[in-house]
Amino acid sequence: MPQRPPTFRPSIKRPAPSEASRPTAAARGYDHRWQRFRVSYLAEHPLCVRCEARGLIVEATCIDHIDGAGPTGPRGYDPANLQALCQSCHSQKTITSDGGFGRAPAAPEEHRA
Ligand SMILES: [Zn+2]
Repeated sequence: MPQRPPTFRPSIKRPAPSEASRPTAAARGYDHRWQRFRVSYLAEHPLCVRCEARGLIVEATCIDHIDGAGPTGPRGYDPANLQALCQSCHSQKTITSDGGFGRAPAAPEEHRA
């Protein structure tokens, strides 16, 4: 009698412990109000400011909080604390200055030399 070949069944992916204990996006301030604000901000600021500074025209897809505090921070909706970035520039900024990969958060950009 023929036998069924073994099937590969990947184990169920569970979020890393740090990700599991992280509050939801809505709890971190990225709620409906933020989503509406994001759409209007990106309509007014359609280009990535970091790429633009290097002479590149790249569509912005993220709003970066310069102080790193997010929408629930004291300057969460302050236009002077926001900049439109592409995904690449936002990830780079998050890794290097917002404590990505376990790094300690650096001082906000505007206070650096
Ligand atoms: Zn960019």
